[in-house]
Amino acid sequence: GLASARVLALRHPALSFGILEKEKELASHQTGHNSGVIHSGIYYKPGTLKAKLCVQGAALCYEYCDRKGIPYKQCGKLIVAAEQEELPRLKALYERGLQNDVPGLRLIGSKEIQMKEPYCRGLLAIDSPYTGIVNYTQVSLSYAEDFQDAGGNVVTDFEVKHIEMVNESAVGSIEGMKYPVVIRNSKGEEVRCRYVVTCAGLHSDRLSELSGCSPEPRIVPFRGDYLLLKPEKCYLVKGNIYPVPDPRFPFLGVHFTPRMDGSVWLGPNAVLAFKREGYRAYDFSFRDMVDAVINSGLLKLVFRNFSYGMSEMYKACFLSAQLKQLQRFIPEITVSDILRGPSGVRAQALDSDGNLVDDFVFDGGVGAIGSRILHVRNAPSPAATSSLSIAEMIADEVEQRFDL
Ligand SMILES: Cc1cc2nc3c(=O)[nH]c(=O)nc-3n(C[C@H](O)[C@H](O)[C@H](O)COP(=O)(O)OP(=O)(O)OC[C@H]3O[C@@H](n4cnc5c(N)ncnc54)[C@H](O)[C@@H]3O)c2cc1C
Repeated sequence: GLASARVLALRHPALSFGILEKEKELASHQTGHNSGVIHSGIYYKPGTLKAKLCVQGAALCYEYCDRKGIPYKQCGKLIVAAEQEELPRLKALYERGLQNDVPGLRLIGSKEIQMKEPYCRGLLAIDSPYTGIVNYTQVSLSYAEDFQDAGGNVVTDFEVKHIEMVNESAVGSIEGMKYPVVIRNSKGEEVRCRYVVTCAGLHSDRLSELSGCSPEPRIVPFRGDYLLLKPEKCYLVKGNIYPVPDPRFPFLGVHFTPRMDGSVWLGPNAVLAFKREGYRAYDFSFRDMVDAVINSGLLKLVFRNFSYGMSEMYKACFLSAQLKQLQRFIPEITVSDILRGPSGVRAQALDSDGNLVDDFVFDGGVGAIGSRILHVRNAPSPAATSSLSIAEMIADEVEQRFDL
């Protein structure tokens, strides 16, 4: 959202733009609760928006950070096959990375794995030197600064509750004609505008629905819990170490991620969250659960993947179970080396048949308001990496759709 607003304000200095954010601070949800990885674009199906926008977005992200003096580390990443049975999937992933034009990819054997990551064991790995890490809260606050410098207004503590066209009587008035879209918050405050772009992450389906547009695809929240490596053990990890992902799911698997502050995060897992912005295991929202169970295809997804879901729940409860996954790569890690860490919640779009929606989804509206609104429905990982390239695409779409 911040990246898109920034590009629109920079491209159109004669127009006025506003960002409405429900929290008191920006980047309080997914953007401020992620792994902080600048993905290079290996995983995504060639030809998809995810593949194209990630490779472009990573280059733009490095260039932006250089220009703004935002620190990052291009510390690279290994995707490691620890078992024989993972080798075909790893090789297929490597081919995919090549097709996506990811720079610098190589396949390396166990000796070279140990040269790069002395404590990591593996049979074969994809070496991706282009992968990096950054603090996305810092990046997005810089986007907000650029937006404000270009004349944009950031309004925080404004939870959008209604989006509608002005009523008939106001259409005749000059203000009604010029700014026909009315946005109201829970306190009854009102903002008028001509066009709206929603980028509401965990609430993107609700924002669409309350503007009279389609609630599909629904958002189902998946929590990802991280573990922390104790500071005295951080020497065990140099760069990012990832498993070969399970092709049935869009999540990348539990990984080792160095952070900009020198710490190392392990995870995240993927468990169904009982609240959209519930960062603790016991956070619960009746409305969010009813929405997920009744209105989405969640039950179909659960029945199809019951044993996977239960095993993720089990691992979330017992550190020793998560540890086993980590020890496949770094056997030296023991339970006394790890602590429970922070969590993030992913906005996972789900269709009514219980299929996870994988690619980015941008959706116009319906009815009178339809020609004035664009909903960013699904912007999952690597949308932080891709934020600048997504923003250019959204700005193009907005210009064309709204005839700016
Ligand atoms: C655990 C986890 C790990 C990840 N790791 C990575 C990674 O390493 N690399 C990567 O590239 N991507 C990663 N991602 C994905 C990335 O963080 C997201 O794709 C990206 O941050 C999405 O940005 P967004 O602006 O769409 O959503 P968000 O950052 O969630 O922002 C949506 C905003 O909308 C606001 N909002 C919602 N409803 C309303 C309303 N009614 N009124 C006003 N405001 C509202 C929210 O308060 C929020 O600030 C990860 C995500 C998670 C959860």
